[in-house]
Amino acid sequence: GATIGILGGGQLGRMLSVAASRLGFKTHIFEPGANPPAADVAHAVTTASYDDEAALRAFAATVDVITYEFENIPTSALDLLDPLRPIRPGRRALAVSQDRLIEKAFLTDLGLQTAPFAAVDDEVDLAEAIEEIGTPAILKTRRFGYDGKGQSRLKSADDAQQALTDMAEAPALYEGFIDFTHEVSVIGTRSLDGQVSCFDPGENVHRDGILHTTTVPARLTASQRMDAVLLTAKILNALKYVGTMGVELFVTPTGLIVNEIAPRVHNSGHWTQNGCAVDQFEQHIRAVAGWPLGDGKRHSDVVMENLIGDDMDRVPDLAQEPNTALHLYGKAKVKPGRKMGHINRIKA
Ligand code: ATP
Ligand code: MG
Ligand code: MG
Repeated sequence: GATIGILGGGQLGRMLSVAASRLGFKTHIFEPGANPPAADVAHAVTTASYDDEAALRAFAATVDVITYEFENIPTSALDLLDPLRPIRPGRRALAVSQDRLIEKAFLTDLGLQTAPFAAVDDEVDLAEAIEEIGTPAILKTRRFGYDGKGQSRLKSADDAQQALTDMAEAPALYEGFIDFTHEVSVIGTRSLDGQVSCFDPGENVHRDGILHTTTVPARLTASQRMDAVLLTAKILNALKYVGTMGVELFVTPTGLIVNEIAPRVHNSGHWTQNGCAVDQFEQHIRAVAGWPLGDGKRHSDVVMENLIGDDMDRVPDLAQEPNTALHLYGKAKVKPGRKMGHINRIKA
């Protein structure tokens, strides 16, 4: 069987490894941190930094294709790996999703709606953005933000100085605040030969900036659901994407607004493990391995709930709930805000 190299050894890498293993593939994880969650289930692990060229070369030599579980892979590492083995999804998807400004420009070029935005490098830019776009708004670091980190909210222009301080002088993006009714996401996959398959959109609720629950089916009209799936396919095709992607959307009375895209399997797609015959992890492995996609049709209503930090104390009770699948990531240390696992409650 072929070996799939995975950059990143977190829970997403772990669940990708399990899916790969089920299809007869081996996985090799590359991860700088010690004892990554994926190490328990992968066939090989390299613990090395992304600056370690020899380790990257040795990793590439043992794998047939390279994929990843997070988007912030250093460009130098990608430059080194790119000529050695196919990287799927490709470099363009990473370039677009690593920088919120490039991402927003890409999306608007495709004719999709985003929040009004402006690049902010200094206080002059910020004053102009406030003037043009108005408040309320959010200032976000262009790179490396996740779980709502690196964001500062402006209720009014009075919050400008605080927002600048929060950004710690990193290049930022100013976004007008969208008055959405709810948030949904589409998890879509594109195969090597251009086949596209999208899972049913899920409705997402966040708590303290972190995804709390995803519910399927989402509250969407038939035309909104169609729109969500079609715009996801448009993004996948525009990037000649190979693999699974998450597309986060705001639902508003004037249509769907794209918040951000993630070039990887996505937390809001974890419900597919118990709602579909083929889940997002298997679709991703199929795509990067050059296989046809599987049947991702939703067969059940599901509510996915993340288990964060002390939620682990509830595991003995959760383990006894009927129609509930428990997924734990094997992380040794519980920390506040740390994703420890999730549960999928099958509703119907
Ligand atoms: P993730 O962990 O999903 O990668 P992130 O740190 O990249 O999160 P965003 O998804 O950009 O952050 O924002 C986090 C949340 O903040 C969104 O899900 C949404 O609830 C809210 N939010 C972000 N941008 C806007 C906006 N322009 N208008 C209204 N709410 C927003
Ligand atoms: Mg994000
Ligand atoms: Mg997000």
